[in-house]
Amino acid sequence: MSVVGESICPYCGVGCRLRIEGSAEHVSRVRGVETAPANRGLLCAKGAQLGPTLWTADRLTRPQLRLSRCDPFRATDWDTALRFIAEIVVNLRNTYGPEALAFYGSGQLDTPTVYTVAKLFKGCLGCNNTDSNSRLCMAAAVAGYRSSLGSDGPPCCYDDIDLADLVLIIGSNLAEAHPVLFDRLRASKRRRPEQQVVVIDPRRTPTAEAADLYLPVAPGGDIALLNALGRQLLRIGAVDWAFVAAHTRGFDEYRHFLLSQEPEELLAVAGLSASAVSQLAERISRAGTFLSLYCMGLNQSTVGMWKNNSLINLHLLTGQIGKPGAGPFSLTGQPNAMGGREAGLLAHQLPGYRLVDHADDRREVEGYWGRPGSISPRPGLTAVEMFRALEKGQLKAIWIAGTNPAVSLPDLHHVRRALQRAALVVVQDAYHPTETTQLADVILPAAPWGEKEWISTNSERMIGWSPQLFPALGEALPDWQILARFAQTLGLRGFDWGSVDEVWDEFIGLTRGRLCDMSGATSTRLRAVTNLQWPCPSPDHPGTPRLYLDRRFPTPDGRAVFLPRNHQEPRELPDHEFPFVLTTGRLYAHWHTLTRTAKADKLVRRSPGPFVEINPLDAARLGLADGDLVQLSSRRGTIRLPARVRPGVSPGMVFVPFHWGDLFAEGNAANYLTISAIGRVAKQPELKFCAVSLEKVAAAAGGSAGGGTGDLTDLLGAIRSRFQAALASPGGTGQPLCQT
Ligand code: SF4
Repeated sequence: MSVVGESICPYCGVGCRLRIEGSAEHVSRVRGVETAPANRGLLCAKGAQLGPTLWTADRLTRPQLRLSRCDPFRATDWDTALRFIAEIVVNLRNTYGPEALAFYGSGQLDTPTVYTVAKLFKGCLGCNNTDSNSRLCMAAAVAGYRSSLGSDGPPCCYDDIDLADLVLIIGSNLAEAHPVLFDRLRASKRRRPEQQVVVIDPRRTPTAEAADLYLPVAPGGDIALLNALGRQLLRIGAVDWAFVAAHTRGFDEYRHFLLSQEPEELLAVAGLSASAVSQLAERISRAGTFLSLYCMGLNQSTVGMWKNNSLINLHLLTGQIGKPGAGPFSLTGQPNAMGGREAGLLAHQLPGYRLVDHADDRREVEGYWGRPGSISPRPGLTAVEMFRALEKGQLKAIWIAGTNPAVSLPDLHHVRRALQRAALVVVQDAYHPTETTQLADVILPAAPWGEKEWISTNSERMIGWSPQLFPALGEALPDWQILARFAQTLGLRGFDWGSVDEVWDEFIGLTRGRLCDMSGATSTRLRAVTNLQWPCPSPDHPGTPRLYLDRRFPTPDGRAVFLPRNHQEPRELPDHEFPFVLTTGRLYAHWHTLTRTAKADKLVRRSPGPFVEINPLDAARLGLADGDLVQLSSRRGTIRLPARVRPGVSPGMVFVPFHWGDLFAEGNAANYLTISAIGRVAKQPELKFCAVSLEKVAAAAGGSAGGGTGDLTDLLGAIRSRFQAALASPGGTGQPLCQT
């Protein structure tokens, strides 16, 4: 079988390098590349099943436009579509100002694309309203690193998994969300059985099943647990005094804060015993190297940044950072969530980890772009704020690329209302329909994975390049080209790049001298070596696996900061009306909102539909058995799902995977229930905690497990078609409606 080439997996943030076998029209096999530093020949089922996601019947091949939301879409050419958008954008900007516009992207866009967005919107249109679905996953980690260590940027690398004596996994279902890292951890554990794996999670996930020690923390109890742990580490003398004295600030306040906490109260909030916390503290104190891996479970909270600070405090306390096998390692959920952070897609950032509200940062970027005074000093609207502003009418137009917010954002009834109120919705995607393209005015065909060159950064700061393997279908274009063509349609200079290399080489100039210095990772070099880890400040620099080995942090005095953080309640607590906690998450077989994984039969067979996981004690109280239809309601919506009775989910809590949207069953997605409350600094929504009620749906009132409003839709559809026939042939609809 011929090899088409190598590529980077477009799903999770592990960044596996794949070898694609087959032909230009058919992928026969996908394998992991043995020499790839991220995956060492491994891959998971999602990567292996990429073939069926190409050349599908729902691929967009031409721009689509409609002049009214009641009209069907009509295919058009690129010039017409871009001119239509440009005229509306210019008019809206002239009438309402630049802040009437927004761009909502994702961690599935490559770095040249997000750089183009930052330059176009922030540098040229004067609008900082660019954000990303990374706001839903990673914003708390960004804010946590920045406040505790002085800058964003995970300090660790994947090889630290092999070198850690103790791996603490908190708020991460590694086995399903980052399967190849989980496989690497299991292989490491097989080689070194003495290596300790500890999992902290309210759900007994497949990751927890593999742990030496599992702590089922109460939902929302993470900060209390981390403070109880800090207190215990202090008590048993596990402090690295030399590190604390030489490289940190704020220890005395932190120590007083910990000692002022009531241990019983901390344990009660964490829902754990003193002995469980002691056991973990003992193991950490004995470990020569201690690595923590974390993800959405810590981040998706209104106090996600505080949870990150509380975890980093423990690494500072024990001196477990800035050495191989140690450190707080935030894992990204998407292939290029890191690139969005580096290139300034997030609403508060500019390229090179700069901030829009820092005058010097703005000046540097404006100077580089030759546009003095062009960047607004006000941070833009973040993901959830954008949709609130759309609903209020403050925001008029939104350009959405590489994501499906009509499934993935919290409080979907509100999201749909917001999009319906917008004057202009542009969606850039490879497929149509998605739940979001259905609400658009213009749909632009983007070339998907394999049909474009790709540059991204994975969770361990590894920049990866991969070539175009297949010709783009129809008129589909790489995302960066669509945006650059739009900028040129507006008459803007500085977007006439001839290749993705030119965009990349321009971008890395803005990283020179910054923590995320990629100036040595030129396009020519990346093409030759395919992988380089930043910082990589010169063309002969080999790349940097770990940050802070010199124990100097990017703060004004070079010291990391202890930040004492109190437990805070989640924004919406269970009560007599909504007595259960709903938490949402991912499954192994699927990725985000199914736009791709639902096209692979093998993945669909493995996880064919959504469900609600419920503890046997709660199920018994509600008279529920496996497979029974359950109605879940929150203050925002109601959905129906089949029950899965499982002891791994704590009593009082239920779990629903968030992947399935309206295309699967109308009005039945998990996010119709979730709350759009966001954190004060990170602005990350609380997707892991809201209050719901549960009812068993009586068989007579039942309907399909797909539930929602689908049954009613079918019923009304049948009535409408009868009337359509009656209108076509006058004479009434037949029988009287009521027989008396
Ligand atoms: S989904 Fe993640 S773990 Fe699986 S192959 Fe892709 S990058 Fe690797």
